[in-house]
Parts: sequence; C-alpha cells; structure tokens
Amino acid sequence: MRKRIYKFGGASVKDAQSLENISEIIKNQDNLCIVVSAIGKTTNALEGLVNSYFNNLANKFDLFSGIFDFHYKYIDDAFGESSEPVKKKVSVFFDEIKQIIDRTPSENFDKEYDSLVSYGEMVSTFIFSEYLNSKGIKNTFIDAREIIVTDNNHRDAKILWDKSFEPVNKVVGDGLSVCVTQGFIGRTVSGEVTTLGREGSDYSASALAYLLDAESVTIWKDVPGIMNADPAWCSFAQKLDVLSYLEAIELAFYGAKVIHPKTIKPIENKDIPLYVKSFQNPEESGTVIKKLDYKLKLIPVYILKDNQVLISISPKDFSFIVEENMSKIFGLFAQYKAKVNITQNSAISFSASIDGDSRNFDLLIKELQKEFFVRYNRNLELVTIRYYDDNSVQKMTAGRKVLMEQKSRTTARFLLGQSENQ
Ligand code: ASP
Ligand code: MG
Repeated sequence: MRKRIYKFGGASVKDAQSLENISEIIKNQDNLCIVVSAIGKTTNALEGLVNSYFNNLANKFDLFSGIFDFHYKYIDDAFGESSEPVKKKVSVFFDEIKQIIDRTPSENFDKEYDSLVSYGEMVSTFIFSEYLNSKGIKNTFIDAREIIVTDNNHRDAKILWDKSFEPVNKVVGDGLSVCVTQGFIGRTVSGEVTTLGREGSDYSASALAYLLDAESVTIWKDVPGIMNADPAWCSFAQKLDVLSYLEAIELAFYGAKVIHPKTIKPIENKDIPLYVKSFQNPEESGTVIKKLDYKLKLIPVYILKDNQVLISISPKDFSFIVEENMSKIFGLFAQYKAKVNITQNSAISFSASIDGDSRNFDLLIKELQKEFFVRYNRNLELVTIRYYDDNSVQKMTAGRKVLMEQKSRTTARFLLGQSENQ
C-alpha cells in the first residue's frame, strides 16, 4: 500500500489545543508518514541562540532558558498530570544543546547553526509522537538524521537522492502504519547534521513522498489553502482550488509563502498530488497541486516580498556593464549569499534588489565598492502580479513610488518605495 505524507508546520503545532485538533485528523488513519516542524517560532528563537553562542554574548544562557521554559510549559499544557516522563525524555535533547553552547564555537557559523537549530525539530517531533501515543494513536518515531542524506552545504543542504533511497525505504518501510519524523533536517554522508533552508519542512515532505513513491502529500496549514494573496496584508484574498506543478513553482519562486520552492520538483517527477488544507477545517477541499491537461486561467495572484534593498552599481573605470562585469557582480552575490530577486541594467549601471536581511550585506557592499560606485536604498517592497490586468496593477501601485518595473506576458513586477506623498 502506498503511503500518504502529512506535513504539519510550526503554526499547526503551536499549542496544546492545536495538538488536540491534529490528533483528531490523524486518528483512525494508517499508512501515514507525518513530517513536523519546530513548534511555533522556535526556529527563530534558536537562530537567536546560535548568534549569541557564535558571538560569545553573555545572554546565551538566558536565550537557552527561554527556549527550555517554553517547551516545558508546552508539555505541561499538552500532557497535564502525565507530563513528567515526557519532560524527562525531552531533557536529553536540552542537555545536548547545553553541551554545545558550553563549548567554544568553531569558525564555521553555518555548521554551528545546523547543529543547534536542528533541535527545534527533534524536540517538537518527540513531543508530537508522545502526544499521539497518549491519545492511543500508535506511532513510530523516526530520526530524519538517520535517513535523509544531504550534501554538506550547511543551512541550505541538498538531498542526495541515491544515498537517501535505501535508508528511507528500509526504516520507513511497509510495516509501519503511522510514523513521525522531522522536517527541515538531514545529515551529510559523514554524519554531520544539516538543515535544508528556512521553511524547508515542505521540501522534506515532498522528498519523502518521492523516495517512498507515496500516494499523496498533504500540507496542513492555518489558511484554507493556497490563496491569491497573503490574507495577512490583503483583504481581497481568495483561495485557488487547483494549480499545476509549474504554476506552483512559479508562485513559490516569486516569493509566495505558500510552499517552499524546492517542494514541487520531486513530486512532479512522480506525478504525486500535493494538497494544501486547513487543519482547522479538515473536511474542506483546500488546494490541490497536480498535473493538469488543460491551460490554467487564474485570477490575478499577488506576491509581496518586503525588506528589499535596491543596490545600484556602476564601474569606476567607465567600462560597460557587459559579461565580464556581470560575472564579477554575480560572483560576489553568490559568495556573500545575497538573494537576488530582480535585476535591471543599462550600459553603465546595474541594479539588483536583494533580501535586506542578508548577514553579509556590509561585507558585500565593501567588496563591490573596490571596483564599483555603489548606492543602495533600503526598505522597499517587491510586488509580483501573475495574470495581471490594469485593475490589479492599479491596486498595487497607486500612490507608490515605482523604482523598477518589469512585465512579461503573464507577470508584472514592481519594486516599490514609500507612498509618493510621504
Ligand atoms: N522550522 C523550520 C523553519 O521555521 C523549518 C520549517 O518550518 O519548515 O524554518
Ligand atoms: Mg517553521
């Protein structure tokens, strides 16, 4: 029997009430492999801990205690009087975290990051599995660090399909009716822990589906499905019922926070449908992403990326922006891990909008300044409209300062500053 993969993100396990809802969805089902992220905003908190640890800041033990207390309270809420044995087992993970932050950090930030941040998922899945057991839902806890093999590109590791195939199929196997494992994490061939990039649990779910030749993947979320805009900033957001794999890749690529961009390829290769559904209303249909044999005609879809920095670069020696300069500039972007979202160039100047939270931003600018004049402009928004029309463009750009604009047949993109009269 082919398995189904369920994925629950941080928001869907954020408190004891959510766990209760989820166990209702899972009970009486079999052949399930459940992938779970860290609880709520734990990954952000762990990132704070890594920064503090790596930079030897005095607050690292306070940050550790904050994360510890949060999880212990969560266990109290979820297990009530029977919380002690669960706490005792979970304390093993916290002891390991403590041991790491007691050491002197190595030079390799990304590796230290992976070894600490991965505990968010270890702890959440352990609690999750125990919780299901306490509700009579028998399940097997699986350590993804034993089965998902990746390259050693820490913090953005790629799954090695050939190397993962055997361990995944051996461990997850046919016999298990419900298993619980971590999203977002894996290990290198030599056994170092890796992470797959922020929000990477979706990718873990689709990778498992691919490796196990699963029947379907369902991503359970706190929204009714994939929307044509983020309901948090858009009052006219509507659900999209069906998407093709290609359209889903495009939307994720442009920054829609629906699913992680790497999620689609593996399941597309095997034609495995992916459902996005609300864990609050599990009987509703949600959105399905699958192979379509007709051309999709969608309403306008709005994707917003905030915190953009527009960098404008021109060569000091008055050379033109052609192949050689371009390759130098992109080389530096890659080296400093800048995420480039839109670019434009003229004969003597090149502009790119990059994510503003890049850790290496100042280093990148310094390096660019060696050969180029560099200006930059912070706090911009990049809006992408798929299937745009006059009305949707008007809605997004009215009264805004447009710093860059690009249109193709289906997609319009605008880099926007504050409103013009501010
Ligand atoms: N917990 C990780 C994150 O917050 C992975 C995920 O949620 O998918 O980025
Ligand atoms: Mg998360």
